[in-house]
Amino acid sequence: MELMLKERVKDKLILRMEGVDPTYMNALRRTVMNDVPTLAIHKVTFYKNSSGLYDEMIAHRLGLVVLKADAKNYKLRKSCKCEGKGCVNCESIITLDAKGPTIVYAEHLKPKDPKVKPAHEKTVIVKLLKDQELKIEAKAILGTGKRHTKFIPGHVFYYGYPEIKINKPSAAQEAASVCPKNVFKKEQNKISVQNLEACNLCMACVETCGKDIVEVSSKKDDFLLFIESWGQLKPEELMLKAITILDKKLATFQKQVDKIK
Ligand code: SF4
Ligand SMILES: [Zn+2]
Repeated sequence: MELMLKERVKDKLILRMEGVDPTYMNALRRTVMNDVPTLAIHKVTFYKNSSGLYDEMIAHRLGLVVLKADAKNYKLRKSCKCEGKGCVNCESIITLDAKGPTIVYAEHLKPKDPKVKPAHEKTVIVKLLKDQELKIEAKAILGTGKRHTKFIPGHVFYYGYPEIKINKPSAAQEAASVCPKNVFKKEQNKISVQNLEACNLCMACVETCGKDIVEVSSKKDDFLLFIESWGQLKPEELMLKAITILDKKLATFQKQVDKIK
């Protein structure tokens, strides 16, 4: 297998992976989205809420606040010594006390653990008018995307590395006009491919010009992998964690198979 870094922009990473098959790519994608644990608000106790939003709506919004944390400091509830009752090892307490007129943002949350921080400080929770108040205590827990989408750490997708064949360059002018990704370059009476990796295989060029003029396909063992983190972890951390989790699962599986040999 060969791995090439194609692009890194803030929370996004694009990799090219050669010599792998779609099942491997999909296992990686699903592990990142379903099995990498992150911290998110799970339970909220309301002491005061005179805002225009019901408790349930605010609790829902709080659950979607993306939290950065040192996940090593927390255990999944099911594997914690407290057996799921909740303790300092599996819960992080966050409070909020605000009075209007103001807009309450994620940055106003006060986590007890200084390493817990909202990834996007300006996430709006609620607008408070004059004399309206909101006082809560929330519990954040570690969870995975399998349990609830609020724990999903990002979006991962892939597609086969594109291959484009221009069979009749002089008849393919329209391909350049319909391509949404500026893959082609127009040169006098013909076109050429100038930006192959931008092609997202939408097939608009083939539908417009026909296969005899332009052909687009994708390789079966060569992929472009896109990883976009929501902010809890860096995209490379997401990949490394997913690989460790996948390895552990396979090691457990191997042990079970060894037992029945
Ligand atoms: S398949 Fe879509 S993105 Fe790719 S070259 Fe054709 S029109 Fe452009
Ligand atoms: Zn616990």
